[in-house]
Amino acid sequence: MATKEYNQKYYQEHKDKLKADAKSYYGAVTGPKEMQERRRLKPELTRYAELRARGLCVCCGSNPATVRSGTGNGGKTIKYCVECRARINISRSQLRLEQKAEVLTHYGNGKLQCCWERCTVCDPDMLTIDHIDNSGAADRKKGNQYGGVQFYVILKNAGYPDGFQTLCHNHQWKKEMLRRREDLNGVPSWRK
Ligand SMILES: [Zn+2]
Ligand SMILES: [Zn+2]
Repeated sequence: MATKEYNQKYYQEHKDKLKADAKSYYGAVTGPKEMQERRRLKPELTRYAELRARGLCVCCGSNPATVRSGTGNGGKTIKYCVECRARINISRSQLRLEQKAEVLTHYGNGKLQCCWERCTVCDPDMLTIDHIDNSGAADRKKGNQYGGVQFYVILKNAGYPDGFQTLCHNHQWKKEMLRRREDLNGVPSWRK
């Protein structure tokens, strides 16, 4: 049987159910023209919007979206089921860790490690990106508000610009202490 014939036959046999389904998806629609008009006025009437409207998880499309899976905000963000929310969170945090490690490795001269002489700190949780010329504060004043995860992504997407190095938190602080003393006596002692 040709596809067209099959579809026609299928439609005839399941007409009532298909119409009822469509009605529950889109609300009462009296005909194709109205449907077209609706789509024109509401282009967001996509799978996402349909699932949101029906209270189903926008990820798997089958489980009900639950309160526990949302982030509050009056229920507006409740769009995942518990399983999908957990899966998404894991993969997101995994991705963030991988991105961070990648950027720290680049600015650690190819090693996931603090750049300070003889420092062996290699735990990503204890490492940060340091502005070599101490322009971080000035950058923030200029409105370049990047911090945390966002900053790693920005550096990566910018093709790893020069002027940064990987330091552990202790050595970031050590560098700051040296900078403050340098301010007092005018010697750039933090430079190797
Ligand atoms: Zn789901
Ligand atoms: Zn260090």
